[in-house]
Amino acid sequence: MPELPEVETIIRGIAPKLVGRRFTNPQLLHADVLRGVTPRRLLAALRRNRIARVFRRAKHAVIQLESGERMVIQPRMTGSLIVYDRRLKPDERRYAVLLAAIGEGRAFVYSDVRRLGTISLLDDAAWEAYTAAIGPEPLTDEFDTGSFSQRLLGTRQAIKKALMDQSRIAGIGNIYANEALFRARIDPSQRTDRLTPDDRRRLYRTVRHVLRQAVRAGGSTVRDYRDGTGRAGTYQRVLLVYGRGGLPCRRCRTRLSTTHAIDGRATTFCWRCQGSGS
Ligand SMILES: [Zn+2]
Repeated sequence: MPELPEVETIIRGIAPKLVGRRFTNPQLLHADVLRGVTPRRLLAALRRNRIARVFRRAKHAVIQLESGERMVIQPRMTGSLIVYDRRLKPDERRYAVLLAAIGEGRAFVYSDVRRLGTISLLDDAAWEAYTAAIGPEPLTDEFDTGSFSQRLLGTRQAIKKALMDQSRIAGIGNIYANEALFRARIDPSQRTDRLTPDDRRRLYRTVRHVLRQAVRAGGSTVRDYRDGTGRAGTYQRVLLVYGRGGLPCRRCRTRLSTTHAIDGRATTFCWRCQGSGS
């Protein structure tokens, strides 16, 4: 978290305000988030170049500079990336990690309460290596049932773990893995190599459906997530299982169960709707 829909929403909010512009007076307030780049090199690159492109890859925001260098921000648990159409208020600077002005009267801020997020600056070769290590984007047209099935091949891992494995498929984290598995009526602990072709087809459809709906709703706001303009998302209101352990299943009214046994994260499921072999 944030996952694909949240980062996509952030990007759609900030891209039009950044592309073609320049970071003026960038300031790095905490260097511990940097990976493989010094504060000096990062700030020099930001100062020197216009912003050529702003896009998402998996759960990361990518700000490509006209030099070709890409600043990759992984917001992880508590990071937020906002462009305000005004100057920052003092409380908005409180957890700021990277700050800059964007033209007249706009402010860019990457904030991170716990600073679990990271910032790196990749040249072409480093970018190629980075993106090659991540699986395909699940919402593209080329990503069909066949590609989905292929990405799940060769593992006995629980299907929930395989879905969240970024080297297999990009962008799915705990919220949307829970939701997609419930909608596909698949036990999250089911061994991936034991899914039937029909299971995989259903799961492919529910993964895409859930991600698309969540993008449309501006993402899910649980804890700190805000979109690129500072607003909360709304998909949390329609989540069927995530965060609903102990509450009645929206399909059959059975009490939903929560386990941490699959991957250490909270997995919430309905044993009746998602029981193995049901
Ligand atoms: Zn149920």
